[in-house]
Amino acid sequence: MNKRSFNKLILYSFISMIFYPLKILALEKKIINPNLTDEQKRIMFGDGTERAGTSKLNFEKRKGSYHCANCNAKLFKSVSKFDSGTGWPSFNEALPGAFKTKIDYSFGMKRTEYHCSKCGAHHGHVFNDGPGPKGKRYCNNGLCLIFIPD
Ligand SMILES: [Zn+2]
Repeated sequence: MNKRSFNKLILYSFISMIFYPLKILALEKKIINPNLTDEQKRIMFGDGTERAGTSKLNFEKRKGSYHCANCNAKLFKSVSKFDSGTGWPSFNEALPGAFKTKIDYSFGMKRTEYHCSKCGAHHGHVFNDGPGPKGKRYCNNGLCLIFIPD
């Protein structure tokens, strides 16, 4: 190896050392849908929350499935939806592997927030006071979901 290609090798190693961690971070949260509104981006990529009672999905009672508004991954089936009275679409069970969870300590509370496994978008928080055998309540921002009727 001559000196010039050795210098190139050092340079490339150095560049990838800087950019590789950035690439990992970028992969964790990725905007896929170019039509997301500013409000959707604020919630999904800034860990925001929509105002309670504003989602039309609160009133959705048809059979079908709920998908990620960013990457279209299938997250919930309509059979797991229930009226929690909180003002946010609520589900007692997510599809296997749909989400990754993380402990959130904001607002002086300890809550479990969940993110889409596929694109990393924030969807909501999951609580242990739901109905059914698993007792879960996925409290989901309606703006993060797309309902697809059967
Ligand atoms: Zn997603």
